[in-house]
Amino acid sequence: MSTAGHSAYRGRFAPSPTGPLHLGSLLAALASWLEARHAGGRWLLRIEDIDPPREQAGAADAILHCLQRHGLHWDDSVLWQSQRSAAYDSALAALQADGHLFACACSRRELGPMGDCRRGCHQRGCRQRGGAPERPASPYALRVAVPATFSAHWQDTWQGMQDWPLGATLHDFVVRRKDGLYAYQLAVVVDDAAQGITDVVRGADLIDSTPRQRLLQQLLGYASPRYAHIPVLTDRSGQKLSKQNLAPALEATAPAHNLRAALAALGQATPPAHASSVEALLAFALAHWEPAAVPAQPVVSAAATH
Ligand code: GLU
Repeated sequence: MSTAGHSAYRGRFAPSPTGPLHLGSLLAALASWLEARHAGGRWLLRIEDIDPPREQAGAADAILHCLQRHGLHWDDSVLWQSQRSAAYDSALAALQADGHLFACACSRRELGPMGDCRRGCHQRGCRQRGGAPERPASPYALRVAVPATFSAHWQDTWQGMQDWPLGATLHDFVVRRKDGLYAYQLAVVVDDAAQGITDVVRGADLIDSTPRQRLLQQLLGYASPRYAHIPVLTDRSGQKLSKQNLAPALEATAPAHNLRAALAALGQATPPAHASSVEALLAFALAHWEPAAVPAQPVVSAAATH
């Protein structure tokens, strides 16, 4: 008999190898590791290498090495998205067969300001035409026809009750890009399901992706995991720390210092001075893990200097 609730906890960290980890990514890795280990669950690692133009040579290896240096050891073998094309193709085929996809060759200029298939595309009738592209010779993206009544609701561990009326905005999002690459939204949903993920812990900068992912889960008949979005880490000027704005890479040689900074940003108790090794710090953090102390709002990184 299947149960309504979630089975044993399975969490994950899913970095894209577009650059080295920074303190903001360590926060996500550490929070998801603490949640998983605290629940006695498993913590899986997935490298989201599906966007070669944005990737940086050596970044994936540097990420694995950096996690290990910080004592964040994962269970099972790493899942590499670059090896998952067959799974993504079959998800696309299933969506296509159920009439959820349409082809869209609209250029950026023709689309709405969000790059979403909104005004331009709807006027051209891409969605009405369904699977067939208007200009078969030109490259086209595959988009999901978001049902007008679709709304995503979930209780987010740190961001509270969420209610996103996705259908009302008519943003029919891309699942396979014009350049033939799979979209993040598709790959993440297929792989969260394949890895049996029960709990997604990640940065609040990704919260607006969650409604799209919940829709795909529904259309593909997958269970939705629980979601917990941690606060975004900003620098002193309020700018989010990210690879794009060149947040300083974590010094793999200062893991204890980095873990202390990440725990402070997560509102956790300060480990005693004698907890100097990575193992001692993580053991303390796990024993004192207090999810309720994690702030919902962005936090300023004391370690970020620009
Ligand atoms: N690969 C995404 C990133 O590095 C995160 C995906 C996720 O946690 O869902 O931003």
